[in-house]
Amino acid sequence: MAHAVTPSSDTNSGPTPVAYEQALTKYEPVLGLETHIELGTASKMFCSCSTKFGAEPNSQVCPVCLAFPGSLPVVNAKAVESAIRLGLALNCSVAPWGRFARKNYFYPDMPKNYQISQHDEPICVDGHLDVSVDTPEGLREYRVEIERVHMEEDTGKSTHVGGSTGRIHGASHSNVDYNRAGIPLLEIVTKPITGTGEYAPLVARAYAAELRDLARSLGISDVRMEEGSMRCDVNVSIHQRGTSEWGTRSETKNVNSLRSIERAVSSEVERQAGVLDAGHSVVQETRHFQEHLGRSTSGRSKEEAQDYRYFPDPDLVPVAPSTEWVEELRAGLPELPAAKRARVKAEWELNDTELRDLINADAIDLVEATVAEGAPSGEARKLWLNELSRRATEQEIELRALAITPAQVARVIALVDEGTLTNKLARQVVEGVLAGEGGPDEVVEARGLKVVSDDGALGSMVDEAITSNPDAAEKVRGGKVAAAGALVGAVMKASRGQADAGRARELILEKLGVS
Ligand code: ADP
Ligand code: MG
Ligand code: ZN
Repeated sequence: MAHAVTPSSDTNSGPTPVAYEQALTKYEPVLGLETHIELGTASKMFCSCSTKFGAEPNSQVCPVCLAFPGSLPVVNAKAVESAIRLGLALNCSVAPWGRFARKNYFYPDMPKNYQISQHDEPICVDGHLDVSVDTPEGLREYRVEIERVHMEEDTGKSTHVGGSTGRIHGASHSNVDYNRAGIPLLEIVTKPITGTGEYAPLVARAYAAELRDLARSLGISDVRMEEGSMRCDVNVSIHQRGTSEWGTRSETKNVNSLRSIERAVSSEVERQAGVLDAGHSVVQETRHFQEHLGRSTSGRSKEEAQDYRYFPDPDLVPVAPSTEWVEELRAGLPELPAAKRARVKAEWELNDTELRDLINADAIDLVEATVAEGAPSGEARKLWLNELSRRATEQEIELRALAITPAQVARVIALVDEGTLTNKLARQVVEGVLAGEGGPDEVVEARGLKVVSDDGALGSMVDEAITSNPDAAEKVRGGKVAAAGALVGAVMKASRGQADAGRARELILEKLGVS
C-alpha cells in the first residue's frame, strides 16, 4: 500500500464543514470563474513549434520557447484571431490596441522565469454569456458577466519520479517536458457572479458547459476538460445573507470536469461556512481540487498582482486589430450554441424535456452530424441517448470520445431500417464497432449478424421448431393462431436473435396450413 503523504499546510483539519442546505440558510455565495482554454492552433503562441499532443518529450521546442538568450518571440496571428472570435461570441468589446505583459515568477517548467500574458490591456473586455440552469423548479436563466478575455502561453510539464504518489514530496528527481511550453491559451475571467443562492454550483457548471460549447462551435479548441485543454479556477466567497459586503474568496485551481466544478463550489461553501461559524476568518488562498475526495485541500496563500512585477514585454509589438478585421471576424461567426439549440428544437420537434436530455448528454452536435449522414433525428437521438450514452458511462468517457463516428451510427440505423438488422443485432454491431472491429458493415460480415430472412435457412429452423414443439403446433393447426408465438420464439432462440420474426411467423402458419 502506498504510504500517505501529509500535505504541508492542509487546513482541512480546521472547523467542521456545515451541510450545504444549512449553510445556504445563513450565507450567500459569490463566484468567479477563471477558465483557461488551450487553443488548437498548429503552432505555438510565439514561435513556429508544433503544438501536436503526445510527441516525444522536448521534441517540439526551439530557442524561443526554451528562452535562449537573444531569441525573439513573434505573435501567432491565428491565436489572436481565435481570441477575438471568442470575445465577439461573448459579446465583448475588442481593444483596438494592447500590449503583452511579462508576469514574473519562478517555475521549473517555465524557462524564461516569466510568462507572457496580458495584464491591464486584455484583448477583449466587458461581455456576457447567458446560461440556463436546470433546477427542480424548471429552467432558470442567468447572465454571467465577462470581465476579460486575454491571451497567454502555457508552461511545460513536470513529472516527479521516484515517489509513490507522483507528487514532488518523496520524489528522487523530476523530468521536465517543454513541448507544452508556449502553447497558446485564452483565459476568460468572469465578473463576480452574485444572486445565484443555492444554485451557485449549478450556475458555475452551466457556465463552464456553455463556454465549452461556445469554444467548440467556434472551432478554436477541442476543449476537452479531461485532457486539460479546458480547465477552470473556481473562486468562491460567502457572506451573511442580507449584508452587502462580500467575504474573502478562495480560488480552487485547475478543476477538470463539470461535475468537479459543481463540487468545488458546494464543498467550498460548506467549508467556509464552517470556518465562519467557528468564529474564524476565511484565508485568501489557492486550493487544489482532489478528485478522489470531491473537495479541495489548501495550497499556497495567494500572491497579489504586485508580486508578479508585471511590465509590458519590450520584445513584442502591440496587438492592434483593425476595425475592418474585427468586423470581418464578427460577420464570419458560426451559428452559436444557443441559436443552434433553438433551431434543432424546432426542426426535430422536441419538447423541453427532450431538448434538456440532449443538452445534458452533450449530444446535440453528434445527433446533428448523424442526421446529416441521412438518419432520421428520432432514431439518431434514441441511439445516442440510450445505447451509446450507456456505453460512454461504462467506459467513463465523454459521449463524443466513443470510438464510433456519426456516419457509422447513421449506417447502423439504416441497416435496421432496411431490415438487415433487428434492434438487438444493432446493439451487437455497435459493440463491435466500439471494440475496433471495423465499420458497421464489416462487423455485420465478420460476426455474421445479418437477419436471416431467406426462406431456405428460415424454413429449416421453422421445421425444427415445429418438430420440437408438437403441442404448440397442434394448437395452431386447430385454429389457435396465438400459439404460433411460442414457435416464433423457438426460431428466434435457435437463430440467436437473427431470424426475421415476421417472415418466420408467415412460414409457420403456411406450413401448419392456417394461412
Ligand atoms: P486574480 O487575478 O488574483 O485571480 P481577479 O481579481 O482576477 O483575481 O479575480 C478572480 C475571480 O474571482 C474573478 O472571476 C472575479 O470576478 C472573482 N471574484 C472577485 N472577488 C470575489 C469574491 N469576493 N468572491 C468570489 N469571487 C470573487
Ligand atoms: Mg486567478
Ligand atoms: Zn518553439
